[in-house]
Formats: sequence, structure tokens, C-alpha cells
Amino acid sequence: MSHEPPESPALQVRNPATEEVIATVPAATAADVDAAVTRAARAQTAWAALAPGDRARLLRRFAAAVDGHTEELARLEVREAGHTLGNARWEAGNVRDLLDYAAGGVERLTGRQIPVPGGVDVTFLEPLGVVGVIAPWNFPMPVAAWGTAPALAAGNAVLLKPAEATPLTALRLAELALAAGLPEGLFQVLPGHGPVTGNALVEHPGVAKIVFTGSTSVGRRVWARGAAHLKRVTLELGGKSPNIVFADADLEAAAAAAPMSFLDNAGQDCCARTRILVQRDVHDRFLGLLAPAIESVRVGDPADEHVQMGPLISGPQLDRVRSYVTDDLDGIRGKAPEGPGHWFPPTVLTGVEPHARVAVEEVFGPVAVVLPFDDEADAVRLANATDYGLSGSIWTRDVGRALRVSRAVRAGNLSVNSHSSVRYWTPFGGFKQSGVGRELGPDALAAFTETKNVFISTESTRNTEGPAQ
Ligand code: NAD
Repeated sequence: MSHEPPESPALQVRNPATEEVIATVPAATAADVDAAVTRAARAQTAWAALAPGDRARLLRRFAAAVDGHTEELARLEVREAGHTLGNARWEAGNVRDLLDYAAGGVERLTGRQIPVPGGVDVTFLEPLGVVGVIAPWNFPMPVAAWGTAPALAAGNAVLLKPAEATPLTALRLAELALAAGLPEGLFQVLPGHGPVTGNALVEHPGVAKIVFTGSTSVGRRVWARGAAHLKRVTLELGGKSPNIVFADADLEAAAAAAPMSFLDNAGQDCCARTRILVQRDVHDRFLGLLAPAIESVRVGDPADEHVQMGPLISGPQLDRVRSYVTDDLDGIRGKAPEGPGHWFPPTVLTGVEPHARVAVEEVFGPVAVVLPFDDEADAVRLANATDYGLSGSIWTRDVGRALRVSRAVRAGNLSVNSHSSVRYWTPFGGFKQSGVGRELGPDALAAFTETKNVFISTESTRNTEGPAQ
């Protein structure tokens, strides 16, 4: 019988715009994960014992190191993930901002003092220990930082497993952390295969919490496997978000904003507004405004500053997207390059049944459907007619309606007359099959703590011998 560890072939990182191999990265085995957990646990004990001001200072230095390398990190993201340069620059800046914001929380991570009889009662927010962050390929840098920054700030160590296709920015961030003075072992990056490296983190008894961002199917498995250890989880999963356009909206503005609400990152965005719901009275007028906006989206080399949309991440992802867009479907199609690279044109499908696969499943490509609705109730019913509940937008000039519909749509992140979803100041996460728990916002650090309650008797010792309260 063989006792060889499970196979973990090296990762080949390819530029999605050219298909060229740009790096080969060794993949961590289960034994590597085990050793990393031991190192992390040691580092975490010392980190949690540091004065809060010192921890905050080190995180600010890490933020400053990222700030000094945003252009390098952005260029790396363009090469390994095919993101447009503008997006990649924003993403590197977002990592810096998240670290700064989390650093601001270290000295404000306060418990409570609760009135009780016979003494003083206080709560402490204790770090969990070692946290595993499992990231997807679609936003390698920001998603890694959403988990890592608050977890470190709350006194934990972090083991980050980037996606197979995109380990390079994560590895560079770990180097910058060390150079900024973060203790050895506190923040380690473990590139590797999901079922090997990711699963080893999920099943390791020394990992207290998993922050998983990825598909709903893998997220479900991660939760089930982690349950054996009652592991804490935050799950950020898929989406199929509505963009609801009422007849009273500023239609020109709604049509101008709609393309990039689902074409950003070539549609590989969990918050993509891929279900455009348009009130029937203005359906044709809206499509008339949308068509030129879609056709003029600039698709091409993501390293070109003027390009708005780059390639899909891989050949399998391209095949998946193609499988949803059959020739018999009508709609608006934009332009995309031909030749090497995983290109798919911006696509809006019309005349699709509301329950068709393409209307309810996450395509994760530059594809949206337009569905007409009759009135407010019909819009809400259609918006909620998917298993997901991550984001959504509402376009209307009626503030009462904006609020009513925002409350009625079962999703975690809604925006009115805009397509904003992710802001590091505000909580982010999904309803229904889109996730469990919240990241970002003022409570981000608390999600990486356990609440401990301590009661201190103020009775004189002679009077405390009665029954415990
Ligand atoms: P994925 O589920 O295939 O992989 C995500 C990560 O999980 C990768 O690092 C992968 O290696 C790892 N993994 C795979 N199998 C594993 C296992 N058995 N155990 C542990 N880890 C495992 O997802 P993806 O294709 O990389 O990303 C796309 C998905 O992510 C989309 O569904 C998208 O909507 C979702 N997403 C959600 C959010 C959000 O915040 N809600 C953000 C970004 C992406």
C-alpha cells in the first residue's frame, strides 16, 4: 500500500489575454499546510500579546508597503487575471485601504460593560487563532484582503490559499508584509489545488475559521467538511443580481450605466447585474438606448489603459459561457478580439423565458438577459426568482418606491440609481445561496473574534459563599 501524499502538481499561471505561461508555482501539499498551521499558531500567540497600538502600527506599515507597490501589483494582476489596468490599480489601492481601515479598528475593538447584580460584567473580543482564507480567481487581491486585513487586526494569524490560476499577487503581498515588519509566520500564502491545499485548511483542527469566497457548490462542501470541527465560516458565494429599471427612472442614465454593471471584469463578478428587469412601458425605448452603449464597449488588451473589458480567465470558463449563449437567442452583441486569448463579446439576450437557465444561473461571463415586468410587485417577484441574493440595483425617481423595493428584494447589497456593491466601509455578503455571514464594514473585525464574558464579584469575600448566580 502506498503512503505517498496526495498529488499536488505545480501550478501553471497563464496570461488569459495571450494564453502564455508566465510562471510555474509549487503547490502546497497537506503536509505543507500542517507545517504552516504550526508556524502560524506560534506567531499568533505573540501577535495577540502585542500592544494594540503596535499591532495597528505594523498593519499601517503593511498598508504603506502596498501603497508603494500599487503599480507593480496592478501590472501583475493584469498579467495573471486579465483585469483591465484601471481595475487592477483600483484593486491594489483597495488592499491598501482595507489594511488602513482594519488598522484603525485594532485600538477600537472594545467589549462591553453590562449591568448585573453583585459585581461587574465585562466582555472581551478574543481572537480566534489561525484563520484560513480561500480566495477565488476573479478578484484575487481584494477578496484576499477582505478576509486577511480584519483577521490580522483582530489578533489572528492568516493562511491564505489563492485560486489555482492567480497565486502571484498573493505571494507578492506576503513578501510585502514581511518587508513591512509583520512577524514571520503570521501571514502565509499557500498556493495550491482546492481539493488538496484548500481542503487541508478546511479539515485542519488547528484552523479556527475559514473565510471562503467562490462558487456556491464548493462553498457548500467547505461548510459541510468544516462542520466536523464546528469550524467558524464566512461564505461569499455566487450571484445572479437584478438591475430593476422602472418607467419613471432617468432612462438615459440607467442605459448608460447598465453595460459596465455586468461587463466589469468580463462579467466574472459575483455582483454582476446580469438580470436587467425593465418596466414593460419603457422596454423598447430602454433597449434602443442600451444597444449603442453595449456596442461601444471597448474590449481588448487589458494592459491598454483605454480598454474597458478584457478576456475571460481560461478556456474552460469560455466554454462554460458559450454553453449558455446558443445561436437561436436574440439580443445585442458587442465586439471582441479574435485569435489567442479567451474572448467573448458583450452580450444582452432578449426574449428569454424568466425561468430559462441563462436567466437564473450564474454564467460568470459578459452575458445579461433583459426581462420585462408590469408593476412594482411583478418586479420584486422577478428579482427574487433565483436561488441567489447577493446584490441588486433599482433605478427610479420615486424615493418611496426605491426604499420599498430595496426592502423587498432578498439580497445583501442594494444600490439605488447606481451599481455600487462593494465599499470597504459597509457590510457585504449574501442572502439565500449567496453566502453566510458578512465581511467589510464597521463590524469586520468582530467576525474574527469570540466573545468572552467575565463576571467580577464586588461582594466582600465573606458574603460570596451563597449559591452561585
Ligand atoms: P471555486 O469555488 O471554484 O474556487 C474558489 C476557491 O476554492 C479556489 O481557491 C479553489 O482552489 C478552492 N477550492 C476548490 N475546491 C475546494 C475544496 N474542495 N476545498 C477547499 N477549497 C477548494 O470558485 P472560482 O471559480 O474560483 O470563483 C468564482 C466563484 O466565486 C463565482 O461563483 C463567484 O460568484 C464567486 N465569488 C463570490 C464573491 C462574493 O463575495 N460573494 C466574490 C468573488 C467571487
